[in-house]
Amino acid sequence: MPSYKAPVRDMQFLLHEVLGFEDLTKYDAFSEVDADLADAVLEQASKFAEEVLTPLNVVGDHEGCTRHADGSVTTPTGFKDAYKQMTENGWTSLSMDPEYGGQGMPGMLQIAASEMWTSSNMAFAMYPGLTGGAIKAIQVGGTPEQKQTYLPKMMSGEWTGTMNLTEPHCGTDLGMLKTKAVPNGDGTYKISGQKIFISAGEHDMADNIVHLVLARIEGAPAGTKGISLFIVPKFKLDENGNPGERNPVSCGSIEEKMGIHGNSTCVMNYDEAEGYLIGDENKGLRVMFVMMNEARIGVGLQGLGQSEVAYQNAAIYAKDRIQGRALTGPQNADKQADPIIVHPDVRRMLMETKAFNEAGRALLYWASKHEDMEKHSGDEKLAEKCDDYLGLLTPVVKGYLTDMSMKTTIDCQQIFGGHGFVEEWGMSQFVRDNRIALIYEGANGIQALDLVGRKLARNGGRALMTLNQEIAAFLAENKDNESISEFMDGLGGAQKKLTEATMWLMQNGMSDPNNAGAGSVDYMHMLGLATLAYMWAKMAVVAQAKIDEGSNDQFYPNKIITGRYFMLRMLPMLDSHLAKIKTGAEPVMALEAAAF
Ligand SMILES: Cc1cc2nc3c(=O)[nH]c(=O)nc-3n(C[C@H](O)[C@H](O)[C@H](O)COP(=O)(O)OP(=O)(O)OC[C@H]3O[C@@H](n4cnc5c(N)ncnc54)[C@H](O)[C@@H]3O)c2cc1C
Repeated sequence: MPSYKAPVRDMQFLLHEVLGFEDLTKYDAFSEVDADLADAVLEQASKFAEEVLTPLNVVGDHEGCTRHADGSVTTPTGFKDAYKQMTENGWTSLSMDPEYGGQGMPGMLQIAASEMWTSSNMAFAMYPGLTGGAIKAIQVGGTPEQKQTYLPKMMSGEWTGTMNLTEPHCGTDLGMLKTKAVPNGDGTYKISGQKIFISAGEHDMADNIVHLVLARIEGAPAGTKGISLFIVPKFKLDENGNPGERNPVSCGSIEEKMGIHGNSTCVMNYDEAEGYLIGDENKGLRVMFVMMNEARIGVGLQGLGQSEVAYQNAAIYAKDRIQGRALTGPQNADKQADPIIVHPDVRRMLMETKAFNEAGRALLYWASKHEDMEKHSGDEKLAEKCDDYLGLLTPVVKGYLTDMSMKTTIDCQQIFGGHGFVEEWGMSQFVRDNRIALIYEGANGIQALDLVGRKLARNGGRALMTLNQEIAAFLAENKDNESISEFMDGLGGAQKKLTEATMWLMQNGMSDPNNAGAGSVDYMHMLGLATLAYMWAKMAVVAQAKIDEGSNDQFYPNKIITGRYFMLRMLPMLDSHLAKIKTGAEPVMALEAAAF
């Protein structure tokens, strides 16, 4: 049975020592939050993740969800009880708005707790995760009455939420969606159509399910300009706001799938179900994007979460499994063989995963701090910068972190040899569960196109320019820090190469959009590498200062060693990405379609 220990020390290092969690406590919204409270939350969350969610991960994988003849769905043994504990302990309302019953904690703390949920049980974590996204969408687009009706119950976890975009013929290209909405004449609509692949679409853990559904109002324009967003509850509400009559929305089947078996992926049939418009007619995508952006960060976190738990198990195994001798001579003379951690190639896989996880975590928490500052600083200029950064970083967090996490999770499986391929050790589940993160919420290729085609150019390229200025100022500030010059040199070089790639795409992407399309994933990886290098440089400054102060906590030298690995062995990937971008579209597009 695989194990999981929440990396609380690393989380505390990021929050308190590197990323300035305490800056947030000066805002009115967080005036009652302090470092001790944050640590207490991390401690409690780690217990829930380790003791309740972790043991259920394998159960969820083996049992999966069961659909019954009446369309109801039962979640795996233990899920319902764990969800009850989650709501009773207030975990679903941790960072939610106090106006609707939330606890109002910073999102930066929420992301740490969510990382623990997703590492310990990704399929389970999706139920509250999707609800969180639906809450945000209703908060942004809902009427005051809709907010009062739905938000308190969703924040308390009594009701969960879903996201209904995909239809059989329409995935990436939402402009083709057919689900229709017919006005009833009383402000409500009849929603009819079929949605597929709907995560948490039907289950037995909550009293009601609030579906957020994209549909086209009769007579609306074709394409994305005619899409509206509706709330369609599983149970219509009675006059007291409690679940009443059943709405004609049901689960037609659940998918047999590669991973996340504990999460019900449903075909949802809407048969003139009653729905309520959120936001303006035909402007539904705008509100849905609030949920999608939230979910994209959540999916990046899923990747990191799987990479972390896979790493922890691989590290334990590598120290325990004995095979062969160290190249430099036996290390374990009294045993038949040395532990496989002596082998440089096993080390390479562990180091790569560790160096990715620690910087990926920093990137996610740093992005999350910007979301907190955007909402609560009350400083317009800062809020604009935060919005710019979040726009730029969201495709990187979703696309780059999950691409990389797939590689690292497979590397950790590789460390188990054949024992990684069989189910007994649990490594296969981490790989299978993680695979979906590269696909849903906009496949990673689409994230890269969003980055190159929209986010880079937005506001005249302001986001990247601001980030470049911030990095330049950081480099200037630390230029005399000799002991960590490898970090500063690496970051400076990354910035130059990224700028070269940006210029190339600007000059050549306009003349032939296929140049931009062919280089977009490489560019997303370059921005991912550069931002992780920035995170490593920030961590190195703090760790080196602690060492210089005389700290004897091995945590700090370990940070420097891990960060050096990233700078020296992972950052050079920038060169190959840049070279590929500069070949343009020609080698990619040359072959006739018939030749494939
Ligand atoms: C387990 C699971 C859970 C899911 N949960 C939900 C959910 O809760 N709600 C929901 O609405 N949906 C959900 N989805 C659907 C998921 O978001 C879609 O599968 C995904 O967006 C891709 O759509 P598609 O499968 O139709 O692929 P397609 O859109 O057919 O894409 C196929 C391939 O072509 C590429 N491609 C398509 N268009 C372009 C383009 N213009 N340029 C470059 N490449 C392109 C894509 O990147 C992809 O690699 C889920 C799917 C799964 C498998």
